[in-house]
Amino acid sequence: MEYTGKIKRRNCHRVLIGHVPVGGDSPVVVQSMTNTDTADVDSTVRQVYELWQAGSEVVRITVNSPEAAAQVGKIREKLDAMGCDVPLVGDFHYNGHKLLAQYPDCAQALAKYRINPGNVGKGSKRDEQFAAMIETAIRYDKPVRIGVNWGSLDQAKMVRMMDENAKRAEPMSSDVLMREALIQSALESAAQAEALGLASDHIIISCKVSNVQDLLLVYRDLASRCEYPLHLGLTEAGMGSKGIVASTAALSLLLQEGIGDTIRVSLTPEPNESRTKEVVVAQEILQTMGIRSFTPLVTACPGCGRTTSTFFQELAQKIQRYLRDQMPVWRKQYPGVETMSVAVMGCVVNGPGESKLANIGISLPGTGEIPVAPVFVDGEKTVTLKGDAIAEEFQAIVEDYVQKNYAEGGKLRQEFKLPDQAKTIPIRAV
Ligand code: SF4
Repeated sequence: MEYTGKIKRRNCHRVLIGHVPVGGDSPVVVQSMTNTDTADVDSTVRQVYELWQAGSEVVRITVNSPEAAAQVGKIREKLDAMGCDVPLVGDFHYNGHKLLAQYPDCAQALAKYRINPGNVGKGSKRDEQFAAMIETAIRYDKPVRIGVNWGSLDQAKMVRMMDENAKRAEPMSSDVLMREALIQSALESAAQAEALGLASDHIIISCKVSNVQDLLLVYRDLASRCEYPLHLGLTEAGMGSKGIVASTAALSLLLQEGIGDTIRVSLTPEPNESRTKEVVVAQEILQTMGIRSFTPLVTACPGCGRTTSTFFQELAQKIQRYLRDQMPVWRKQYPGVETMSVAVMGCVVNGPGESKLANIGISLPGTGEIPVAPVFVDGEKTVTLKGDAIAEEFQAIVEDYVQKNYAEGGKLRQEFKLPDQAKTIPIRAV
């Protein structure tokens, strides 16, 4: 595909999850999911708040038991009292129809219900239980996500399709059949929901698999066969760099084709690692592709034999952490600051050039170079730092730059030409 500098998003309905629009010409929404026991109100509230502070615009919680469903209203109340208005999505499997009926506070407090057609119920009960959930969604005016997952594909449907496939003159391969079953399961369930009276602009679809090539094929096909917004994500992406790389590869290719209206990066956290990493990765995928901006990003060189100390790596890390930590406050006070670029370079080879291209850049001295660090602001050298307090002084220069340039969102309007770009790639602070 030829790259024209703009991504043309696929046309689809606009769905409101609480106050957050998904699809239509809305920005691609970042969402995440908690891993706390929902029945544990304090832990769940704490984690939802952290995910929201990190920039998650929608947060999903599991609602798997009466104990969990009984606490959802309280979780919503506590978040509201903390000033956190992030919409909550309830993830239901097997007993969702009962929980939604028995806990009206839960049905009301949630901004969307996730329904997995493969886990709604078996045999004759399946349609009845699915209908009960859709009727609750209609009663409370909530959207649903029909979320199919290849690990929990409707087995009865799969068996039927395999039987039919075996009778074909040219049977589909098992891979093709599995992908088709996923898509049909999602689309048939969506059609069923509409037949029950749920409006088409209350339906979001996902068809998650854990293999990158399958995900590409499934979503391209799905995108061409419906006008529902698509929730994009690679399921069970894995831990560490493997999970990040697999998710980035899959999501980037689809986003580049204009497919995907909300994304979640399903990372398995390392033991004791913050859950917010999946939010940071999702934001960085969108930001590095130029689709949205969330946090000023630091450009840093990889370092080489010209930098024998770790000072510049530490400075780059410190500045990136500082910028991210400031964002919960900055995004309210300084609209547009998320588009700021900062460069931290290790020596004079590429340092001054890269620093001049950033809003603020510092070129540290490499091995054998004079121990001074020129700082560039908007392409001009403004000061040369030296001594033991380079890191602190540079941070103060960044803070000063933000205060002077982003009050009232001045830079955003100049640099991003919002009216033009908003038609194809809406850019918005979270
Ligand atoms: S900027 Fe200097 S230190 Fe950094 S990678 Fe290039 S040559 Fe090495």
